[in-house]
Amino acid sequence: MSGRYDRSQASHEQASRVLPGGVNSPVRALKSVGGTPFFTVSGDGAIVTDVDGNQYVDYVGAYGPLVLGHNHPRVHEAIRSALDRGTAFGTPTQLETVLAERIVDLVPSMERLRLVNSGTEATMSAIRVARGATGRSKLIKFNGCYHGHADYLLVKAGSGALTFGQPDSAGVPPGSAADTLVAAFNDLDSVDRLLEANAGQVAALIVEPVPGNMGVIPPTSGFLEGLRQRCTDHGVVLIFDEVMSGFRVHIGGAQSLYNVIPDLTCLGKVIGGGLPVGAYGGRAELMGHVAPEGGVYQAGTLSGNPLSVAAGIATLETLQSEGVFDTLCAGAEELCAKLSQAANDAGVAVTIQRVGSMFTLFFRLNDERAALTNLSDVQACDFDGFSTYFHAMRDRGVSLPPSQYEACFVSTAHDTDAIDRTMRAATAAFRAVAACVV
Ligand SMILES: *Cc1c(COP(=O)(O)O)cnc(C)c1O
Repeated sequence: MSGRYDRSQASHEQASRVLPGGVNSPVRALKSVGGTPFFTVSGDGAIVTDVDGNQYVDYVGAYGPLVLGHNHPRVHEAIRSALDRGTAFGTPTQLETVLAERIVDLVPSMERLRLVNSGTEATMSAIRVARGATGRSKLIKFNGCYHGHADYLLVKAGSGALTFGQPDSAGVPPGSAADTLVAAFNDLDSVDRLLEANAGQVAALIVEPVPGNMGVIPPTSGFLEGLRQRCTDHGVVLIFDEVMSGFRVHIGGAQSLYNVIPDLTCLGKVIGGGLPVGAYGGRAELMGHVAPEGGVYQAGTLSGNPLSVAAGIATLETLQSEGVFDTLCAGAEELCAKLSQAANDAGVAVTIQRVGSMFTLFFRLNDERAALTNLSDVQACDFDGFSTYFHAMRDRGVSLPPSQYEACFVSTAHDTDAIDRTMRAATAAFRAVAACVV
């Protein structure tokens, strides 16, 4: 028998013998929608090709980094020319300063920064700086926001967790999550309650200013401003985790879009142009706490790696070129309008939430169309509808992130042809969803 995904299935079986779940990051295993992941051999522009020779218009974008699409010529060339000079030195290189200066120019809160290797490292390190600078231990995060996989960040609200966090993962000792307090996104009262109950003990409040890790949930008017005010009043370090939203919602991040300036910012994804990277930074005085200038230790053998830095510079440079970012966002807006129309035509209840070049198409139950503002709204979505849509799209050559809790990423390579292909698939996929609803 020769099926559409035969080679991917064989590859997955082989991989599963040596890699847990056959993958190196859990979401890739498609657990929430079922089925076997396809194994990719190459990507070019908006298109990826799998081991069976199937092609897909790609909205995964490596989960965010590939804002210029796959194998962009300028990024390719930058990596190649860095590669010709060597892969790692363990000494400073000039390109690290070039990338840092570019980030400082673009992101208002970042006067100085440190480059690391992943978003996870960036958030861990930023929180260490906040704790070192304040001498306090506690931390406020929001239910449904993801900040990487550090022990004390793998916490979301279970019942009663609005006061003390409970670990979300096996292997996290209760003690390491005990200083993590969980509030509800877009709910300033929940923040007030935590600040009051823990007066003088909260070092940092960390937030995705535009969450993308529970699907795209824009901040309601006044929410980010309210966080800024409360952090100032209580001496709490405000950390924006812009690992996803940075260079996605605005060329200067969510802080530029909403004009709310945090004390520290975490970056990743786009600033590595598809290679491993992260960064954290903020007010010069706060960053002065980082070793070797200050007492907050943080290090990395491959930090500021020449290939990652070269790819990041080329990506940001291209994104900053005249009109590129605006065109990217306009393309995403147009796509969302078309998807919304097609869903309507098929009689499928959806709400599409988009900020800049990232969006989520939420399948709604009971014909609900109001905006989703926090995790519990997302949990009330039609997950079966999403799974049907995901597979119908994939079988028709469109690759989506495999969960209702993820964001779709549009790139500058998504041209008219890619959008047309997407819409042909979506029209049929919405009909398939409608047919399942009886
Ligand atoms: C992806 C992501 C991270 C983690 O970054 P990694 O590079 O996967 O460690 C942290 N925060 C946010 C908001 C992210 O989207």
